[in-house]
Amino acid sequence: MKNDMEKILISEEEIQAKVKELGAILSKEYEGKNPLLVGVLKGALPFMADLIKAMDIYLEIDFMDVSSYGNEMVSSGEVKILKDLDTNVEGRHVLFVEDIIDTGGTLAYLKDMFKYRKAASVKIVTILDKPTGRKIDIQADWVGFEVPHEFVVGYGLDYIENYRNLPYIGVLKPEIYQ
Ligand code: 5GP
Repeated sequence: MKNDMEKILISEEEIQAKVKELGAILSKEYEGKNPLLVGVLKGALPFMADLIKAMDIYLEIDFMDVSSYGNEMVSSGEVKILKDLDTNVEGRHVLFVEDIIDTGGTLAYLKDMFKYRKAASVKIVTILDKPTGRKIDIQADWVGFEVPHEFVVGYGLDYIENYRNLPYIGVLKPEIYQ
């Protein structure tokens, strides 16, 4: 797979150091609150797995699956819930764990939905932020790295379901898309 990469934007070492840093910050923030970390499938899986191991507090996890992109590289602007939570969020401190915020559509939709479901608080941590892609004015509460306006893969992010298992973040060679 490494041969398919045009460039590596963020190395495995940089990611792992950042996740430990975020884990320490979030442990302080959520100590004694038994937060519910909600991973947005499938992209958040590697970040979620690393982040919870970097948090030394009582917490619970659950997952949602939403579709906004399908198998394309541009957002359809629609959010569809493919799998909802198994947990009642009323009165809970919810922390969304995301791979990347691009247009902001997915998280704006989910954040509103969880306020309606009466969560005590709803916050967002994302490993990547692509601020230049934003169509809805929403910010994550904690961001790992900002990325430029390019289609990135790795550490959970796919191109047609491949490359999610790369331990780093990078950009594919143009010929891969042909
Ligand atoms: P948003 O609703 O913020 O536009 O989109 C969020 C979702 O779009 C992410 O969870 C991710 O699945 C997908 N996405 C956005 N930008 C990229 C990108 O550069 N690469 C990949 N592989 N997926 C992306």
